[in-house]
Amino acid sequence: MTNPLFDLTGKTALVTGSSRGLGRAMAEGLGRAGASLLINGANAGTVATAVAEMRKAGLQAAAAVFDVTDEKAVEAAFQSFDAAGIAVDILVNNAGIQFRKPMVELETADWRRVIDTNLTSAFVIGRAAARRMIPRGRGKIINIGSLTSILARATIAPYAVSKGGIKLLTQAMAAEWAAHGIQANAIGPGYMVTDMNEALLANPDFDGWVKGRTPSRRWGQPEELVGVTVFLASSASDYVNGQIIFVDGGMTAIL
Ligand code: NDP
Repeated sequence: MTNPLFDLTGKTALVTGSSRGLGRAMAEGLGRAGASLLINGANAGTVATAVAEMRKAGLQAAAAVFDVTDEKAVEAAFQSFDAAGIAVDILVNNAGIQFRKPMVELETADWRRVIDTNLTSAFVIGRAAARRMIPRGRGKIINIGSLTSILARATIAPYAVSKGGIKLLTQAMAAEWAAHGIQANAIGPGYMVTDMNEALLANPDFDGWVKGRTPSRRWGQPEELVGVTVFLASSASDYVNGQIIFVDGGMTAIL
């Protein structure tokens, strides 16, 4: 029997970028804990396939297709939830992109694209969710950071800056919204096996570096984020606020 502290029955969770990768694994974990899922991505076809597969697996899932960088589309999505009587109890700001280039060669447009997708979207969607959570006096916001929320790495400056921003955005959300019964926390995943890391996984040097640098001596699997996600989405974490929890096989614990 599930510990009632972690039971999400009756809650609705919006997970951005949940058509694939880490977002999908976290959404499925929330669904198995009882939550109804709003599955998001910018690509309607990929979202529809994910929703169909989740329903087949017995989860309650509906599509919420919008581009997280399109503020008007975000507002329209939340208005459609309002009209349908859907309250987002749990928001996971997960959608994100990577772009690798040395800073001296980096175009400003690419810098902005990464910051808009990974950081500004979390503010815009978090604000839309919080405006509705505050009158209800409760809500859970989980922002997806990274090892680069606290450490830099060559060739990924806009990504690292966006994820550093996610850490402070999480603290800013806690500063303003904790008094309204909202808990805002972040997860910092280590190197995980997803499409985003396809090129890195295929590179023997990089693969060797990850395994050598990580105390667990392996990459993480998306499902390994589920425990912390369910914890941060549930009443088990009602006095945890403004924190980033690393799920990284110990990488940030050692030199
Ligand atoms: P993937 O590339 O596998 O999946 C990204 C997801 O985000 C897809 O569902 C994609 O949907 C969606 N997405 C991308 N851009 C947008 C957009 N503009 N609007 C709506 N949805 C969008 O990435 P991961 O699962 O690897 O990464 C997920 C999050 O975790 C990111 O924030 C990433 O930075 C972070 N992270 C990942 C790590 C890893 O090792 N993989 C480590 C640390 C953090 P669509 O199909 O529409 O493109």
